[in-house]
Amino acid sequence: SSNQSSEELHVFRSRLPDITISNNVPLHVYLFERLSEFQDRTCLISGSSGKSYTFAETHLICQKIAAGLTNIGIKKGDVIMTFLQNCAEFVFTFLSASMIGAVITTANPFYTKAEAFKQLKASNAKLIVTQSQYVDKFRDSGENDLKIGEDFSVVTVDDPPENCLHFYVLSEANEEEMPKGIVIQPDDPVALPFSSGTTGLPKGVILTHKSLITGVAQLVDGDNPNLYLKNDDVVLCVLPLFHIFALNSVLLVSLRAGASVLLMQKFEIGALLELIQNHRVSVAAVVPPLVLALAKNPMVDSFDLSSIRLVLSGAAPLGKELEEALHRRVPQAIFGQGYGMTEAGPVVTMCPAFAKQPFSTKSGSCGSVVRNADLKVVDRETGGSLGRNQPGEICIRGSQIMKGYLNDDEATARTIDVNGWLHTGDIGYVDDDDEIYIVDRVKELIKFKGFQVPPAELESLLISHPDIADAAVVPQKDDAAGEVPVAFVVRSANGFEITEEAIKEFIAKQVIFYKRLHKVYFIHAIPKSPSGKILRKELRAKLAAPPAS
Ligand code: ATP
Ligand code: MG
Repeated sequence: SSNQSSEELHVFRSRLPDITISNNVPLHVYLFERLSEFQDRTCLISGSSGKSYTFAETHLICQKIAAGLTNIGIKKGDVIMTFLQNCAEFVFTFLSASMIGAVITTANPFYTKAEAFKQLKASNAKLIVTQSQYVDKFRDSGENDLKIGEDFSVVTVDDPPENCLHFYVLSEANEEEMPKGIVIQPDDPVALPFSSGTTGLPKGVILTHKSLITGVAQLVDGDNPNLYLKNDDVVLCVLPLFHIFALNSVLLVSLRAGASVLLMQKFEIGALLELIQNHRVSVAAVVPPLVLALAKNPMVDSFDLSSIRLVLSGAAPLGKELEEALHRRVPQAIFGQGYGMTEAGPVVTMCPAFAKQPFSTKSGSCGSVVRNADLKVVDRETGGSLGRNQPGEICIRGSQIMKGYLNDDEATARTIDVNGWLHTGDIGYVDDDDEIYIVDRVKELIKFKGFQVPPAELESLLISHPDIADAAVVPQKDDAAGEVPVAFVVRSANGFEITEEAIKEFIAKQVIFYKRLHKVYFIHAIPKSPSGKILRKELRAKLAAPPAS
């Protein structure tokens, strides 16, 4: 149809040429393809204990666990839930599941009992791998009536409480007993992550062997990889592996490229800086709240961060000012962003300055579309595709995207259209150099008398102020304008008590009239998700609630 041909007018592609991707094998086969070359290199380092595993050790342990999982009754297609902070056992469980055709659903161990059960039920997991301290969250399920040892099993990586098994039951199995003859198809699911839940309830996202392999290959394969990792790189893994950003863009890419992954259980600034210094971390994957901490904390100056050659930020908007502030502290590093979403498998765009033969990029951009994929920008009103420099909804197409949402065909059909385009719900544009800028989410835009105000832009200006430690902008209902932008601000501990008027003035000087702040509320901390996003819905709820007495 004519509609189709006009749509094809504006399809953006990577500046890097397409490559051949071997996505017809199971994920673990692809990841360990060069095992014989890497076997004696360090694969994983536990930051807390210092214990490390070579690629050969990692592979062998995974084979044992694959046998162990089979011994306790886990079969192809079964779902295993990891309820873990970053640790080697997380990695082993993930790869072993791939070996037997099982599926991993990753969950945040800080979930409440209700949240934990929700994902357990939705994913129909047969086994949970966790720490003993979290097991109580899976007892007395109330109305759910699921019981440990009857409806599902629990393995703990430390001393198992009642009715639970120790991880040794898996890791000390005989690798010879690994089941033979399991046939895994490229379209079989291997991971079932849940989206962050920034805009509503987290959604189960089905990712297949083919999608994850494609997503990794788009970054690290080919003669000129988009994200060039060397096999002597030490890649920092402080972001949670239960979220797709670290899972894909830290762990899986490093396994494929033969780089070492330094696992850190949780973020603590002093410990983090020490690990970077002691292990000579060369690649750091970060999210904006971490960039904020590194850019503003005075402790940073007393550590040697000269080993860092590459800093990759993703998961949420990162303002130019903040990016530049951190860059001043690690001047030797190449800085860039990736942009993605769980459903996209997950990377949509990646900074091409990370390539082996790099392209120069501008700060504030999210890079260019990954190779072997199509990107378009859609006008939300007409549905037509837009050319350069015109903001619209970003859509992506390629073998890396999800198969669909778990048990929700309607939501799947709303997200992936009949032509295979995944609609991201994010507003962005492509500039003259093929660089992509994310303006904000469709859902977060504030509408002032019909004018659109992206909160991310105002937040970026606010945190560039030395007397402001952190900030978030949300809409407040207004009779005249419909909505007006208001800010929540955390003051810096530098002794200067900046006032509401001064903040409004600071913004008003830099923006068009409809983006001005109408109110500033001072707060102690901005609520954020573990995946690095501002939880604006919590702040909106604060505005809606009657003032505390
Ligand atoms: P839910 O869909 O459940 O509400 P979520 O969208 O936050 O949660 P994720 O899949 O973790 O779940 O996050 C994807 C979103 O993160 C993207 O749609 C986009 O809004 C945001 N994002 C990711 N990377 C960037 C980036 N570099 N710049 C701006 N926004 C980003
Ligand atoms: Mg989303």
